[in-house]
Amino acid sequence: MNKLSFYLLFFLLVLLNYDNANGQTEITKWQDGKAGAVSITYDDGSINQFRYALPVMKRLQLPATFYIITGSIPGSAFKGKFIGRPVEEIIAETATVPTNADNYYERASAAKYLGYTGANAYYDSSANLYEDGKEMEARKMMDELYSKVRNGSLKKGTELSDEQAQENGLTWDSIKLYASQGYDFASHTITHAHIAVLDTANIFYELEKSKEDIKNHLGEKYIFTAEIPFGIEHTRAMKYSLPVYASLRNLMTDPYMQEINRGYKTQPGSSDKEYVQWQRGGTTKTSLQLMKSWVDTAMAHENIWLVLVFHGVDGLGYEVLPHELLDTYFQYIKKHEDSLWTANFSDAAKYMRERMHASVKTDKAGDRIMVQLQHSLDTNVYDIPLTLKTYVPDEWKKVDIKQDNYQQQMHPKKDNKGNFILYRANPNKGAIVLVSAG
Ligand SMILES: [Zn+2]
Repeated sequence: MNKLSFYLLFFLLVLLNYDNANGQTEITKWQDGKAGAVSITYDDGSINQFRYALPVMKRLQLPATFYIITGSIPGSAFKGKFIGRPVEEIIAETATVPTNADNYYERASAAKYLGYTGANAYYDSSANLYEDGKEMEARKMMDELYSKVRNGSLKKGTELSDEQAQENGLTWDSIKLYASQGYDFASHTITHAHIAVLDTANIFYELEKSKEDIKNHLGEKYIFTAEIPFGIEHTRAMKYSLPVYASLRNLMTDPYMQEINRGYKTQPGSSDKEYVQWQRGGTTKTSLQLMKSWVDTAMAHENIWLVLVFHGVDGLGYEVLPHELLDTYFQYIKKHEDSLWTANFSDAAKYMRERMHASVKTDKAGDRIMVQLQHSLDTNVYDIPLTLKTYVPDEWKKVDIKQDNYQQQMHPKKDNKGNFILYRANPNKGAIVLVSAG
């Protein structure tokens, strides 16, 4: 070997040494390096969710997010009401001015507060037509309601929506207790409103004041997400709702995420986005086998976040399921917890956002590896740990991991790139120091 090739070989060996994975760190797609994620959510706060489904989840130690209708809970500061001029004025005006594009939202906002029973059904039908893009039919339906009010064919009185009635028995004290046990709560508006058909004053009342009641009873942590009723993605409803909450289950607009809402038939396996929110609703028509297959699909594609939506439980609510079925299904999810991260909606959404806004810097100094983890989001809101995967030297048989006052010890695992450790770290805190512990 001549001198030149000796130096070349030497140089190559140095390069190879630097080039191995040693010290390389990545943020795993999901917490604890799991292959997929699942969030269990419940809508409408139907009391049987807490009486019969929550104990099952507690036994299996599964998290969940409950979207509750705040106006019907005793002690809420903000109850359902119409924000606007006296309804008598509106009723009188309908005698001469047919419903049009200019007055539709005001009439729809007032519809539930005219003081007549049976009005809810017209409000719902009209809103459904509007959300389906049938605006002329929606206006006609509104005219029909107001003409019935004027000619006295509706009975005087007030009525709750079905969803509000199902919540009867739910109290802030019980919600606080469940929250203290780790369950996530979030707004489903004040009255289970059709946000798309309200005027802006009433939209903001339903959104902002429900948020305020949740914040005052439970705290800042519980105003991160919300679900606008009826699972809608209607442009007008989203235009006003998206700025009020950091993360709507209806629609997340993060550029790295594909959304497959629960009404869609799109298969999630085909997306090349970093994350897919795959929302599926368990209904009376859904077989247990199909529900299990969603879990299998989430495990088979690493970008899938399966968001399950449940409503009624044990005879009460929309699309009622027996708790025994949920029990069997949740056991199936629990059985796969080694591969699936089970997290409430807020934690899962925060993890993805933190990871997509984070950077990792690694330095090797002597016998230690130093890792810095930062994200650029508001640390008061985005405060959950991220999982790091760091490759360590082959001779490290045990590793001490230290960040600020927290210390843990781990045995490295091996993949095709080398030996690594998986550990949770807090972003925007002190440097993480890894040293060999033998
Ligand atoms: Zn609902």
